[in-house]
Amino acid sequence: MYEPITNQQLISVAEEFGTPVYVYHAEKIAQQYNKLTQAFKDHPTRFFYACKALTNINILKYLKQLGADLDCVSINEVKLGLKAGFSPKQILFTPNCVDFNEITEAQALGVNINIDNISILERFGNKFGASYPVCIRINPHIEAGGNYKISTGHIDSKFGISIHQLRHMERIVKTTGLHVQGLHMHTGSEIKDVNVFLRSLEVMFSVASHFDSLEFLDLGSGFKVPYKDDEPETDVQTLGLKLTEAVKAFEIEYGRNLEIWFEPGKYLVSECGSFIVKANVIKQTTATVFVGVNSGFNHLIRPMFYDAYHKISNISNPNGAERIYTVVGNICETDTFAWDRVLNEVREGDYLVFHNAGAYGFEMSSNFNSRLKPAEVLFSEGHAYLIRERDEFEDLMRNQLEVL
Ligand SMILES: *Cc1c(COP(=O)(O)O)cnc(C)c1O
Repeated sequence: MYEPITNQQLISVAEEFGTPVYVYHAEKIAQQYNKLTQAFKDHPTRFFYACKALTNINILKYLKQLGADLDCVSINEVKLGLKAGFSPKQILFTPNCVDFNEITEAQALGVNINIDNISILERFGNKFGASYPVCIRINPHIEAGGNYKISTGHIDSKFGISIHQLRHMERIVKTTGLHVQGLHMHTGSEIKDVNVFLRSLEVMFSVASHFDSLEFLDLGSGFKVPYKDDEPETDVQTLGLKLTEAVKAFEIEYGRNLEIWFEPGKYLVSECGSFIVKANVIKQTTATVFVGVNSGFNHLIRPMFYDAYHKISNISNPNGAERIYTVVGNICETDTFAWDRVLNEVREGDYLVFHNAGAYGFEMSSNFNSRLKPAEVLFSEGHAYLIRERDEFEDLMRNQLEVL
């Protein structure tokens, strides 16, 4: 059962482990996972957790226990997945612009491979022929997603093989004898409109009819979660009904059963995450009141990188008078988390929480300004477990060689 973490529990975590700290609520991940499996219960459907969102080994193990499979974009993510206990067949490798050696390494490990370039398809076909099945990533040229940086299906995108290169794909498959077991499309992130998925699926069907031994259709991700209170979440229930109906109809025409595959990242792990920081200084200028916190875009880059909105709460003073603040970090560059944000009065030393910080939070953190990366905590069944130690000074020197 999912019970949100209380402010008091978050404060206890901050006091026990220090700040800044990422906290992930396990039961929230389970709730999201269950919503997906429930919505697609009427059709064989597999959910490959897109682990680039958050790769802590405990999160991978937890999702494995829930029954999820794993989508990986680098060979190291594949290795982390194997280490977490996923079997090779539970792993899908979806790389882009990698060295061919990385693909043969994945082949040797026995994982599912998604190919997204004509030249790679040709090399893979020449080397392995019919001996190793593959999935092909198609670019359907559909404009979708919340933001240009996270749209991947449009005409200028580097991802996938264009649907206009279908003849070329067919030629390679025929000549090399490749066994194409699946088709894949991932048109972007944060897609609100269920019809976008249906449009991708229509394109998928038209391509699928050119391949006769498909076992699955992979629709990637794009599930949206709300970052602001009034924002919608992708209606997975309706999506489940509509997609299931469309795929069942196509199966009759196609003459084979087809599994549906998805690769949710954000949907599974965004909302589970709280990022706790401390207000170091309140700085009143002639134009605004800044809250300067003990973190920066080196720990949570989404506001600066994607103009992302993260809801912030002052958990130390939840009933304080509401005031307007600009919340900034301590990096020596423009480093703004939130402009003109209404918060309960913030005092120096108060703990602030960034909500929805599970996906692409810790994972995109860096040591810029020689700052230390934060700790990570897993919160499960009322207990808080430290799952990554905060960096120490020595970590900054690791791998550096002093030659002077
Ligand atoms: C990033 C990515 C995902 C996950 O996207 P979310 O928006 O986090 O759900 C899924 N599939 C592929 C191939 C990706 O690159």
